[in-house]
Amino acid sequence: MRFEGKKVLITGATSGIGRATSIAFAKEGADVYVVGRNQNRGNKVVADIKELGRNGMFLQCDVSSPEEVEKIYEMMSNEGIIIDVLVNNAGVFITQSLDDMVFDDWSTTFSTNVNSVMLMTKAFINDLKKSRGCIINNASISGLDIFTSGTKNYMYGASKSAVVKFSKLCALNYAPDVRVNVVCPGIVDTELFTNRDFSRFDGVIPMGYISKPEQIAKLIMFLASEDADYITGAVIPVDGGMSLK
Ligand code: NAD
Repeated sequence: MRFEGKKVLITGATSGIGRATSIAFAKEGADVYVVGRNQNRGNKVVADIKELGRNGMFLQCDVSSPEEVEKIYEMMSNEGIIIDVLVNNAGVFITQSLDDMVFDDWSTTFSTNVNSVMLMTKAFINDLKKSRGCIINNASISGLDIFTSGTKNYMYGASKSAVVKFSKLCALNYAPDVRVNVVCPGIVDTELFTNRDFSRFDGVIPMGYISKPEQIAKLIMFLASEDADYITGAVIPVDGGMSLK
């Protein structure tokens, strides 16, 4: 029960890592604000949270939209809700070679993966200062300097690098009030991959298998917990060793 009485807001929380993290926080006592676009899926996550005896609320929001982010912040603020943990998790994965790249896809990638992190952080940072809370941003090993892979990873890789740098600047400028850390998953079995043939990753992960969303949730929760109270600006791969190759 590391998060008894804590309020956690997670974006992209209706599926995959965001969903698993929402449930994991609720299991440890937190009330969870589930941010996403799909009402039906959001309601299902909220029902699972309530089944665990916690408060859950679905907030419908396209996190790439400044107006919609502002709207959910105002709604929370009007209710007097001050969050303790913000998990910026929403993201898209679009791959194209430079030759085939379409500007709309570049734009969608950056507005979802990068703009949303800025918009959510800007909206909630003063509340997080009040609660002496923390932010965990979900980047990817694709955003790490040590890992450059793929002929089609331009948009995703560049967007996740931006998340890493933005997070470090926030960690620096909002210490000691707000800790800001980054998780960098490798390959996780989620809907992010439209190509479900994971055999293409055979042999590329030293630990020998692709991860489950719950394994990423464990790192996010550690970084949000008291056990990480001196950790800020950290960028941590959770990739079964994939970025070592
Ligand atoms: P996912 O597709 O299940 O989750 C992404 C979620 O973000 C979805 O629920 C989607 O609807 C939501 N989303 C997308 N655009 C949005 C928007 N504009 N507004 C609100 N919500 C939006 O996949 P996932 O793997 O759970 O992805 C979660 C995060 O993990 C992403 O940021 C992704 O880049 C990152 N990640 C995933 C992997 C992997 O292998 N699956 C690896 C590294 C990083």
